[in-house]
Amino acid sequence: MTTSRTVLITGGNRGIGFAIAEEFLAAGHRVAVTARSGDGPRGSLTVRADVTDAAALDAAFAQVERELGPVEVVVANAGITRDMLLMRMSDEDFTQVVDTNLGGAFRVVKRASKGMLKAKFGRIILVSSVVGLFGGAGQVNYAASKSGLVGLARSVTRELGGRGITANVVAPGFIETDMTAELPEAQQAEYKKSIPAGRFASAAEVAKVIVWLAGDDAGYISGAVLPVDGGLGMGH
Ligand code: NDP
Repeated sequence: MTTSRTVLITGGNRGIGFAIAEEFLAAGHRVAVTARSGDGPRGSLTVRADVTDAAALDAAFAQVERELGPVEVVVANAGITRDMLLMRMSDEDFTQVVDTNLGGAFRVVKRASKGMLKAKFGRIILVSSVVGLFGGAGQVNYAASKSGLVGLARSVTRELGGRGITANVVAPGFIETDMTAELPEAQQAEYKKSIPAGRFASAAEVAKVIVWLAGDDAGYISGAVLPVDGGLGMGH
């Protein structure tokens, strides 16, 4: 039985974030999610925040600290895509994706580190993507933001690793959520051919790995990139 922790997950109202919240709840943790709309699963505390807004995040953390205690585990999961071929990608599409996926993680980790340093304990988990290291045509903005998370986690590991804090990246492959449901069926079939496992994964398959990474047994893993991709990105 692992120690019960206070956990905050960004973007926990749907998709992978919702599944992560469900798995932490099932494992007996105190769970809060940030959401711009909607709510996290039953039994979780939902706080309003947009990850591009540092003041809103600060208020959300303060509310979680008041209601559930200091945040010991943070999962930076909120993310967006604005896919477009390089030649046609606007500055705005690039900046918005990087500011949400990478800037959002930076703001969340910075705010979370305050309490973690005081507690001399913390688990930081950043949700990246196989695309971060594999690359993706039409995904210059998304891939850049997701590979940036690796440098972020590794630098945090070097800065805070001696204070009982770990920082890791989980890199999912294709997961069945709204994000992949947008892909045309022919493209989904094409992708499945290139995945050694021959299928997409459920959000729960990612969530269970994240819960394990936050647990007592994973305390000596830091700065790692853990793929959950059915073998798609092997070799990175
Ligand atoms: P969804 O599109 O289903 O959900 C995205 C979540 O992020 C929503 O909760 C959304 O909130 C939130 N979000 C987006 N922008 C912001 C913002 N500015 N501030 C706060 N919250 C925000 O995505 P998935 O569940 O599929 O993806 C979750 C993470 O996993 C993402 O980081 C994604 O890049 C990554 N990933 C997903 C893969 C997949 O195959 N699905 C594969 C690899 C990685 P709202 O409802 O308010 O929009």
